[in-house]
Amino acid sequence: MAYAIGNKSKAMCDICGRKFSYQHLREDWRGLKVCAVDFDSRHPQTERNAKTSDAIALRNARPDKDVDGTADWDDLDQLADIFTMHFGNDGLP
Ligand SMILES: [Zn+2]
Repeated sequence: MAYAIGNKSKAMCDICGRKFSYQHLREDWRGLKVCAVDFDSRHPQTERNAKTSDAIALRNARPDKDVDGTADWDDLDQLADIFTMHFGNDGLP
């Protein structure tokens, strides 16, 4: 659709309500048609960057067997289980 230029038209500012030339009004970041006095550019801090959170999670992480935090690494039975699991023997002489 073709629109008229509006060089002889009048329009009201959406902020102050005064009448101006249609071409004098500008659209601000909120979509309001405003005069030069009421024109407000958007503050850069209101524009969020596509910033993601810090990477914390590990890829293919394995759960800790010591969920309750009570494991005692001096416990030879537990060490023997770990050696057996990884090396096929208990690692003890
Ligand atoms: Zn105005």
